[in-house]
Parts: sequence; structure tokens; C-alpha cells
Amino acid sequence: MTLQQFDVAVLGGGPGGYPAAIRAAQLGKKVALIEAKELGGTCLNRGCIPSKALIASAETLKEINEASQFGIVVGNVTFDYSKMVDRKDQVVKRVRKGLESVIASNQITLFRGFGQFVSPNTIKVKGIDNATIHADKVIIATGSEPRNIPAFPFDYERIHDSTSLLDIKTLPSSIVIIGGGVIGCEFASLFAILGVDVTVVEMLPRIIPMESTSVSNALAKAFSKKGIKMETNAKVEGIDRLENSIKVRLAGGKTFQADIALVAVGRSLNVEGIGLEKTGLTVNEKGLIPVDETMETPVRGLYAVGDIASKWWLAHVASHQGLVAGSNAAGKPARMHYNAVPNVIFTEPEIGTVGYTLEQAIEAGYPATVGAFPFQALGKAQAALKEEGFAQVVVDRRTGQILGAQIVGHEASSLIAEMVVAIANELTLESITETIHAHPTIAEAWLEAALIASEAPLHFPPKKGS
Ligand SMILES: Cc1cc2nc3c(=O)[nH]c(=O)nc-3n(C[C@H](O)[C@H](O)[C@H](O)COP(=O)(O)OP(=O)(O)OC[C@H]3O[C@@H](n4cnc5c(N)ncnc54)[C@H](O)[C@@H]3O)c2cc1C
Repeated sequence: MTLQQFDVAVLGGGPGGYPAAIRAAQLGKKVALIEAKELGGTCLNRGCIPSKALIASAETLKEINEASQFGIVVGNVTFDYSKMVDRKDQVVKRVRKGLESVIASNQITLFRGFGQFVSPNTIKVKGIDNATIHADKVIIATGSEPRNIPAFPFDYERIHDSTSLLDIKTLPSSIVIIGGGVIGCEFASLFAILGVDVTVVEMLPRIIPMESTSVSNALAKAFSKKGIKMETNAKVEGIDRLENSIKVRLAGGKTFQADIALVAVGRSLNVEGIGLEKTGLTVNEKGLIPVDETMETPVRGLYAVGDIASKWWLAHVASHQGLVAGSNAAGKPARMHYNAVPNVIFTEPEIGTVGYTLEQAIEAGYPATVGAFPFQALGKAQAALKEEGFAQVVVDRRTGQILGAQIVGHEASSLIAEMVVAIANELTLESITETIHAHPTIAEAWLEAALIASEAPLHFPPKKGS
């Protein structure tokens, strides 16, 4: 096998790897991209996109079921879950095709196969393509997989991980979801809208424990209203496969029986079997590949991006890191900044958060306060029947600097963008209150929340005593 020479090689074609390859190619480098499965990685093929395609189908059903509130008479509404799954597959295929053509149009050489380091600069690829690649700079972007836990005997028929659950063609009548984090809650919301009896089991005292108490409580309240059962402070000891169902056993003896189970309790990083030991790199105590703000590892010329190198397991963080690593590998300096990382959760209602929660800001020593505005008080929310939710800004009382923001409700995933820009650019409350917000929109919630934090509320009563 002859040695093929490149300027930059990228191992893994997910949302971390392919932007790195594109950026390095844009900067004039000869780039190899190595992918063992499908381009787009977890996000496009087994994560963000397929789950949001199914959620979009469920949301459409919900809108139709609520049409009578708008004066629209709809006949007997039914749905075919297998067609929703087919549509999801079509969406993934189409996005992947677009990505393949972008890679080709950037003159990136795609190697389809599993890559393994034989030295810090040499990767052996085995698969559809077989090759030995040598590159001056290498970017590792091998991502993660659902974590296999011995106590949960995955059979991918009744005991699922997130990947296999996305492909079931028949809707169960009941599901127990183990893990009340982002993935668990998104599936809980999706299945509840489709009429499945859902129970979420979470080991910590509340669901989405990484979010602020107010956000997590708002979601728990909305879930309760939809009939989603939540068992918190609950440790799962095991799952038994019964003939046509499963039984989840909790410490303390409580059990739940359902058609199927989803285990959504973390992911394992793809750092094994890739020949990492041949590079001289070792993972840190969290199992991550250590990197600096340029995404370079302690081995010069070797970069790492995405889930394997980040405390944020998010596609958009992986992509940003990919662009930074691709740029540095091509000789153009770039750095990562993490002061404004958006986190979005596609539950019903949606959630968008960025920066500090009030609790975190106080803990970090800021004299912080919060301005919160309920959607209910917005004309647009009432007109569109999207009254559930609120927007809140966390600010430094002394300087007015916006430290964080949380939004729960309709289109929260898009609405958070305004606050991401505000925090990334260290803007103050004044920048928001002095900005004309279009009326009537849900985005006015930011203006109103900022006015409340400035103690000058407009469509909200003043604080008692002021
Ligand atoms: C159900 C679900 C929903 C999600 N929803 C969201 C969301 O809404 N928003 C969001 O931001 N994030 C979401 N995520 C997380 C997101 O998918 C990941 O953070 C993101 O995909 C990480 O990107 P990555 O490039 O680091 O790794 P990956 O996407 O895992 O890609 C790594 C790629 O490398 C390839 N690879 C691995 N080893 C090798 C090797 N040795 N040789 C060749 N190729 C190799 C793999 O085949 C894979 O294609 C979701 C995840 C899941 C599971």
C-alpha cells in the first residue's frame, strides 16, 4: 500500500471533523477526511437531525389536534408512525447528500474506512477504501457512541439506546426512559405527544439537572400536565426482559413495567481502538483528549475536536472547534471562546439557555439579579396560543452586563440566539432595552425581561414598594 501525502488529515466526519476539513481546504491545504460510517456523524445520522425530524412530525400532530382552539374544524386525525420514521430517514439522506457534495466541491479527499494511528502523523485506513495516509497536521474528531452498561442488557428490540430507538417502526404503548437529561427528555416529550404512556426515571433530584432550577421545574410542570410520569432520586438497579415487555427495577424495590425501555445515561468516547497510544497522547481524568484553546493537543501538530475533547457534547460546539482546529492546522491562528455556548432542548415546551444561571452567577461572585417575563403577557403569544413559558435575563446589578439567559416556550431554540450574541459580545441590559424589537413577536419577551431587570417594566406591574 503506497503512502498518500496530505497537508491535513481529519479522522472522523461528524460535525467536529467535516468543518475542520472544509476550513483547512478553504485555506488552500490538501485535505484527507476519514470516515468509518456515514458523513455527518452522530448528529446527522443518529442524533440531532433524525430526532428533530420525528419531533417536527409530532409537533405538527399537536398543532392539528389543537386546531379547534383557532376555530378550525378538523375531522378524525390519525397518524402512521412508520411514515414519520420514513420521512425522518429521507431528511437524513437529503442532508447527507448535500454534505457529500460540499465535501467534494471543496476538493477534500474522502476515505471511507476505519482509521487507526500508526504514528502521530500516519493513519492506516481499512474499509471500503484501504490506504495509508501521512499528513503534516492531524485533527482527531472520532466522537462518541451510546454507552453500553452491563446492568442494562440492550437487545435493541425492547431495551434500546438512542440509536436503535430512532429506528423503531411501531410505536409502543408505553416506555420507561432511564435518564432525565436532554436526550431522555426529548424522547419523553416526543412519545408523550404521540400518545405513548411515558415514565422518566432520573437518579438526581430533578430532570435536566444541568439547567437552572426554574427551567427544570418549568419542564417538570409541563411534563406533568402532559401525563409524563417522573421518578426522580431513583437509582435503576436493572432491567429485566419479559416475554412481551420489560421491567425496570429501582433500588428500594419499586418496579415499572412497559413495552420498551430507553437507556439514555451518557455516552462513551471513541478513543479506544484508534491507535491513540501510537501518538503519545493520553486521555485526562475525564476521559477527554486534552487540548488548549487552539484545539491543539500536547503533541504538536495533533488537534482534537468535538465530544472527545469537550465538556460540551453539542454539535455546534464541535463544529466551532472544528473550524478553529482547521484554521490553526492550516496556519491561520484562531482560538475557542466558551463564554456564550447555547444549549437548546427540543422538548415541548422548548428550552434555550446560555451563560450563567442566577445561582451560578451568585456563586461566581457577581452581584446578580434576574428579570423574568412570562409569555402569557405577550400579545403575540396570546394570538398564537403559545402562552406557556417565560424568558429571563441574569445580569450584573453593578454594570448591567448580561451574564446569562434562559427561555422556556415556543421557538425557544431560535429565540436564544439574541442572548447568545449579547453575551458573546459582553453587551449590557441597555443594549437590549435600546434595541427596537419587532411587534408583535415572542422576541419581545427579551425586551420586557431586560426592562424588568432594569426596574422599568413596561407590560408588567412594578415591584411592590418601588
Ligand atoms: C439522540 C441525540 C440527539 C442529539 N441532539 C443534539 C442536538 O439537538 N443539538 C446538539 O448540538 N447536539 C445534539 N446531540 C449531540 C451531537 O450529536 C454530538 O455532540 C455531535 O455529533 C458530536 O460531534 P463529533 O464530531 O464530536 O462526533 P460524532 O458526531 O460522533 O462523529 C464522529 C464520527 O467519527 C467517525 N469515526 C469514529 N472513529 C473513527 C475512526 N477510527 N475512523 C474513521 N471514522 C471514525 C464516526 O463514524 C462518526 O461519524 C445529540 C446526540 C444524540 C445521540
